[in-house]
Amino acid sequence: MNERTRQGDLKRLAALDVGRCTFAASLAEHGTWRIGGPADLLVEPESVAQIQAVVYFARTRGIPLLVIGQGSNLLFADAGLRGIVLKLGSAFANIAISGNTITAAAGAWVPGIARRAQQAGLAGLEHTIGIPGTLGGLVVMNGGSQRQGIGDNVRRLWAVGEKGKLTELTKEECRFGYRSSALQESGVVVVKVELVCPVGDPRVIRHAMLADLRERRRKFPRKEPNCGSVFLSTAQMHTSVGPPGKIIEEAGLKGTRCGGAEVSHRHANFIVNTGGASAADVLALIDRIRHTVHRRIGFTLACEVRYVDEQAVIRPADQLLVFPGT
Ligand SMILES: Cc1cc2nc3c(=O)[nH]c(=O)nc-3n(C[C@H](O)[C@H](O)[C@H](O)COP(=O)(O)OP(=O)(O)OC[C@H]3O[C@@H](n4cnc5c(N)ncnc54)[C@H](O)[C@@H]3O)c2cc1C
Repeated sequence: MNERTRQGDLKRLAALDVGRCTFAASLAEHGTWRIGGPADLLVEPESVAQIQAVVYFARTRGIPLLVIGQGSNLLFADAGLRGIVLKLGSAFANIAISGNTITAAAGAWVPGIARRAQQAGLAGLEHTIGIPGTLGGLVVMNGGSQRQGIGDNVRRLWAVGEKGKLTELTKEECRFGYRSSALQESGVVVVKVELVCPVGDPRVIRHAMLADLRERRRKFPRKEPNCGSVFLSTAQMHTSVGPPGKIIEEAGLKGTRCGGAEVSHRHANFIVNTGGASAADVLALIDRIRHTVHRRIGFTLACEVRYVDEQAVIRPADQLLVFPGT
């Protein structure tokens, strides 16, 4: 599709009732790394019907479409994105609890859901208390900590499919794996999720959450923009070579820089933006870390962080790099 046709289509979309529209929106302002060029059009919908309309519009015209929450697991391209970014935020923040079931909209803030679960005496979400993202992003990534994933608690969810149709998906259909799910490949927009949690003692749950938050404050970089753990840390990896932070630190890479991107001095599995870092800087640093670690111990690190290119194609950031070990 040529530039003029796409821009004309995007103007037509913005003129429809699809929510708040911003042209040439800086993606750096919509991701925790504070990196990324302009997106042609950012749409912040307020209803499921508006999401359906945007998805249908983009898919039928072949316009690249990216769905985001807080952008806390994404590296946006320096060139930005030639299409639509659909951001689910505060209009999709509703959380309802009935018995041991939590039903929440996809834009709900993960620590907020964890806190509501604690107050209601529901256990199992303690490990998510410090994750700065939306429920939609967490479910798609099957995110979590302490070797757990939110998929363990998902009973079913509702998503807008490729053609703009709202469908219900069971936990089995989501095929949750370690920091992965079938939702990553399917291109659906998650709008609502039902979680099931066992009953627990609110005081015990609170204690576990506070301990998790203390640990994060102690270990993770606090001031510089970052995207959480850059490299995947699987159970098998732990037993064979140890966690990525330890491997990278032992390779002497803490403090290593490429442009404005730096391996955090606090935790070596974090890359921080020291100011003015570009996506190219981060990718170069990821490449350098992977080569150094591979040369040293023969292990190939894979990325948890996902790179979004100009055409809205998303893939683990390491998959862009030419690497002898892959
Ligand atoms: C300081 C820090 C600590 C972190 N700690 C952890 C941690 O302990 N464990 C962990 O797993 N992660 C962690 N993360 C990474 C990140 O917060 C999680 O992956 C989070 O769940 C992503 O949510 P998000 O809303 O930011 O998603 P985004 O980054 O916006 O998107 C992530 C992926 O989900 C897709 N997506 C988002 N919303 C939807 C939707 N509604 N429908 C369909 N697809 C969607 C996007 O297209 C993208 O592929 C951390 C990040 C930071 C900055």
